[in-house]
Amino acid sequence: MPPPVLQVALPRPLPQAFDYAPPAGQAAGPDWLGCRVRVPFGRSTLVGVVVGCAPAASPAALKVVLERLDARPLLHPEAWDLLGFVARYYHAPFGEVWATALPGPLREGGPVPAARQARRRTPTDRSPIPTPPLHPEQQAAVAAVAGSSGGGFLLEGVTGSGKTEVYLEAIRHTLERGRQALLLVPEIGLVAPTLARLQAGLAVEIHAAHSGCSDGQRARAFLAMAEGRARVLVGTRSAVFTPLPEAGLIVVDEEHDPSYKQQEGVRYHARDLALWRGQRLGVPVLLGSATPSLESLRQVLAGRLQRLSLPRRAHPEARPPGVRVLDVRKRRLEAGLSPELLQALAEALARGEQALVFRNRRGYAPVLLCHDCGWSAPCRRCDAHLTVHAGGRRLICHHCGFRAPVPPACPDCGSLALQPQGQGTERVEAALAAALPGHPVIRVDRDTTAVKDGLAKRLAELGTAPGVLVGTQMLAKGHDLPGLTLAAVVSLDEGLYSVDFRAGERLGQLLVQVAGRAGRAGRPGELWLQTHHPDHPWLALLLEGGYPALAAALLAEREAAALPPFAHWALLRAEAKEVGEADAFLAAARDHLRALDSGGRGLDWAGPVPAPMPRRAGRARSQLLLRAGERRVLQAALAAAVPGWYALPEARRVHWSLDVDPIDLS
Ligand code: ADP
Ligand code: ZN
Ligand code: ZN
Repeated sequence: MPPPVLQVALPRPLPQAFDYAPPAGQAAGPDWLGCRVRVPFGRSTLVGVVVGCAPAASPAALKVVLERLDARPLLHPEAWDLLGFVARYYHAPFGEVWATALPGPLREGGPVPAARQARRRTPTDRSPIPTPPLHPEQQAAVAAVAGSSGGGFLLEGVTGSGKTEVYLEAIRHTLERGRQALLLVPEIGLVAPTLARLQAGLAVEIHAAHSGCSDGQRARAFLAMAEGRARVLVGTRSAVFTPLPEAGLIVVDEEHDPSYKQQEGVRYHARDLALWRGQRLGVPVLLGSATPSLESLRQVLAGRLQRLSLPRRAHPEARPPGVRVLDVRKRRLEAGLSPELLQALAEALARGEQALVFRNRRGYAPVLLCHDCGWSAPCRRCDAHLTVHAGGRRLICHHCGFRAPVPPACPDCGSLALQPQGQGTERVEAALAAALPGHPVIRVDRDTTAVKDGLAKRLAELGTAPGVLVGTQMLAKGHDLPGLTLAAVVSLDEGLYSVDFRAGERLGQLLVQVAGRAGRAGRPGELWLQTHHPDHPWLALLLEGGYPALAAALLAEREAAALPPFAHWALLRAEAKEVGEADAFLAAARDHLRALDSGGRGLDWAGPVPAPMPRRAGRARSQLLLRAGERRVLQAALAAAVPGWYALPEARRVHWSLDVDPIDLS
């Protein structure tokens, strides 16, 4: 028998592990499994992880490991199993999954960073701020989770119902039992407030992990949890990979939020992974939302998630906001704003209150149009319009980053009548500032929050004085702004006619979340909706029965149409110089799958078809959709087919990626 060699998984989009000989004088053995190694690869070196130890496939040309980086495996068995599950379920190379899961410095082979100097103030010195006495519904929710020995729970609590207090109490119980807790939030801006609330209520140090932390901080928090020194971690999507050797509870706040799905590389869904881990670990997983995803609602109906509900706002005087649908047909609008809305904003400010104006388009205007000939400024590299920025002086492509000054005249007809069409947050901000002199108008979007702690800085700028926030999605998420009484949506019409089958769910979630920012403390709140379609059935459902009524109707439609969550999808995407190359790969992948017939009956496919944006950054984009009524049928087919896709000759000319359970079909 030849001596065994080391099988190393590398962070590359390649399905196989690579054989390496151990350094001279050392023997390959099972003690290498899970340890990081530095190896030569092509002309460079890479850090990978040992996944196996076996006789070499071709012992002749073996390269040698340059350096062993760990004496013991970095991950304990459950965290290691999670990576294996992710690789199998998303059909992703193990080395890529491993690299996705580890914080930067660890992935790059850096030494395990030393623990921080012990703080002078030991955690037990801290006296926690008492939580308000919980309402009976909050108590019931805590009791259900704390008393369980595992299982998934969906905490459906209206906005402002006090879900955070439920998380806090459930975590307190977890700590009392000597276990660790992990809390996921959908975006960076929510880490700090959630952490502050937990820190105030609990006597242990709370750790944070998100993309805004320095790499060293993330690695330290990861290792502190892995070694059991840290007991509670709050983090964004990738924190779902945090090792939890003494796991007791996993919480996923705002579980409906699409940011839990990674949209590049290994396309995992952090909520789904949290549920899988909870099951493996035998610990409860608590999903919370005012507007649960249809996926989770279906799990409730199927008996796989237990529903807990908080039907009322927690603050004793808070009421659900009143809703006013404003039919803007034929009305004169100023930057998309009706005179009635401007009036209502002015009145709120005069009463000393705050307001929020929601517009889900950043920039000044979505299109630059020639009023004389109809030309509209396109991106040369994408099938998309350029967005007008900088108050109308610059053009930027939101898809490939292309930038140009606004041309002095129309390139087609020479006319000087170039006009920005439609409204972005910049333009709404300018109009509000002009209409509401003497009050701060603060814009919150990706452009104004790109700096460190950007969102917190913008919110601090507003403070508690009367003023207006104008911004995108990120304003709709979970913030508790007690002085805010008026929330307005500039236009919801785009959401009504999107081609995405999830449009109704997304619009309902958005409107309820925006409304949820208003009237959380004593003063009554109001939601204003401007639309050209005041009679749309989705609006009627929302107004009459709230999100539950809309969700029930949409769920019935999905079932009738056999759409997710009543069907299981995977989307194979391909990009190439020429559309023919992308299509040829997808057709070959489809034929390979069909030839294997491994899915048996119940699998079908659509495509290759052009992607919704057929060209981006100069590359042609196509896709193939795979569908099955049962998850295991889809999984079996992919497990059989994907390894062969790497070897297809057509694969050489394309970039391809597989998205299991896609939530964005673009
Ligand atoms: P949610 O996350 O459900 O939208 P929060 O957890 O932010 O709601 O709570 C909304 C507000 O209600 C917060 O200001 C919180 O301090 C307050 N609150 C929560 N629970 C209670 C309670 N039992 N009694 C009084 N106020 C409460
Ligand atoms: Zn023109
Ligand atoms: Zn572009």
